[in-house]
Amino acid sequence: LAANLSALRDALADFDIDENPRSVQQKSRDFYWYSPILKDMLKDVCADLVIAPRSEAEVIEILRLCHAHDVPVTVRGAGTGNYGQAMPLAGGVLLHMRHMTEILTLEPGRLVAQPGAIMKTMEAAARDKGLELRLFPSTTATATIAGFIAGGSSGIGAIRWGGLRTPGNILRLRLVTMEAEPRIVELTGEDIFKAAHAYGVNGVITEVEVPVDPAEDWVEALIGTRDFAAATRLSFAIGRAEGIVKRMVSTFEPEIPERFFNRYTEFTVKGEAAVAVIVTRDSLEALEALVAADPETTMRFRSDRDLGERRLVSLYEYAWNHTTLRARKVDPSITYLQMMLPQDDIYGVMERLKTDFGDEIVLHHEFTQFSGKVAAVTLPLLRYSSDARIEEVIALLEADYGITVFNPHRVTLEEGGMKKTDPAQLEFKRQTDPKGLLNPGKMIAWTDPDWVPEPGRAFLFNH
Ligand code: FAD
Repeated sequence: LAANLSALRDALADFDIDENPRSVQQKSRDFYWYSPILKDMLKDVCADLVIAPRSEAEVIEILRLCHAHDVPVTVRGAGTGNYGQAMPLAGGVLLHMRHMTEILTLEPGRLVAQPGAIMKTMEAAARDKGLELRLFPSTTATATIAGFIAGGSSGIGAIRWGGLRTPGNILRLRLVTMEAEPRIVELTGEDIFKAAHAYGVNGVITEVEVPVDPAEDWVEALIGTRDFAAATRLSFAIGRAEGIVKRMVSTFEPEIPERFFNRYTEFTVKGEAAVAVIVTRDSLEALEALVAADPETTMRFRSDRDLGERRLVSLYEYAWNHTTLRARKVDPSITYLQMMLPQDDIYGVMERLKTDFGDEIVLHHEFTQFSGKVAAVTLPLLRYSSDARIEEVIALLEADYGITVFNPHRVTLEEGGMKKTDPAQLEFKRQTDPKGLLNPGKMIAWTDPDWVPEPGRAFLFNH
């Protein structure tokens, strides 16, 4: 690789290149350290150089040269992914999208942007025109739109619109392939899922089109409940209430608001579980009626009523994967899981988890729409004792509780959220990256077609 890199380096003289070892190291990392397992496994991963293309034409030229010199390429947006998605396991070039940040079209119904556009900037631009995004991650302040589509899955807006996998939430992707003569491919409709949530293993996204809708007037609220079951019941009721237009419904066991909701502690009560919601101003009356109807629930905070002079960050920065971040700031030994409890027995399983695991697992649900139904996705905190215990807990949850775990302690598509190889993504990679140079090591089927999962053991990529 060294000789190839040096030849590549000479050919790339006119590009924006970063070779400073410290910043290359820093840009080679994402939020992988959320997982003690990945923290150890990926600590030495580093690119050889970082290139920041200024245009699609530069992306094409870089990929053409990297293909010619057999140099791997891993794309980076903002590097906020949690599972080492953007980390270059085989070294080579890190393609940093920080120059390609423009919004190209913004009109009712659609927003077209370059891949490195920051989602919060997109939302602000949309709101200036009376529009808004459907879906964004809680890292919207820094996350890029292509990073969200290639690495993310869901977030704020999912209770109304479903996640990224729901048809209609991405309208079009434009990619550049990794071939002797890179091609531009446009994906629409079902074809989008060949490259969405594929960690950039089968093309570099250079343009994205997403839907925008008329902007709503959002208000945030924090509700205290007697216990976590009451919080979950209220959340399902809010989720299902047609008269309440909502963007977020999140539910937390008492320890979370008590210890980790720093700026909001004056609005939390010790021992109470919490429900954080974002609803339209017009829905507040219906929300208040639901809360008042249940003696176990109390409205504790409304942003339209209680803000005063306070400058509070949005409640979404306490929800989704931010819950883990907040907890880790107080107690760095905390890690997390991502899972789906059996929805038809959710209260029974919640109770068994409490009895069997005590405070080793602290529950937190995010509510979303799945095929027209309200569902709870569970992102619990997990008190860390050893890597082996994480593996053991996951195996127990899957075997004894009927829980599906989307393992966040794995770096590959198969072992994490996807659970298995997506044949359409694999076939697309054969067409777009025949040498297997894009983000190597993230799609097991490409490296080892005969691989079978072994509970408790991570796939090891040797390049
Ligand atoms: P990166 O981390 O830079 O990249 C993610 C993946 O996309 C990598 O595999 C990368 O190679 C690939 N990629 C990036 N750009 C391109 C491109 N142009 N072409 C092809 N591939 C590309 N995720 C959610 O879905 N919902 C949440 O609510 C959420 N909350 C989070 C909260 C915290 C505190 C943290 C740390 C993470 C959270 N995440 C969440 C994960 C992550 O922040 C989001 O998915 C985010 O959108 C990723 O964007 P990024 O620009 O940082 O992508």
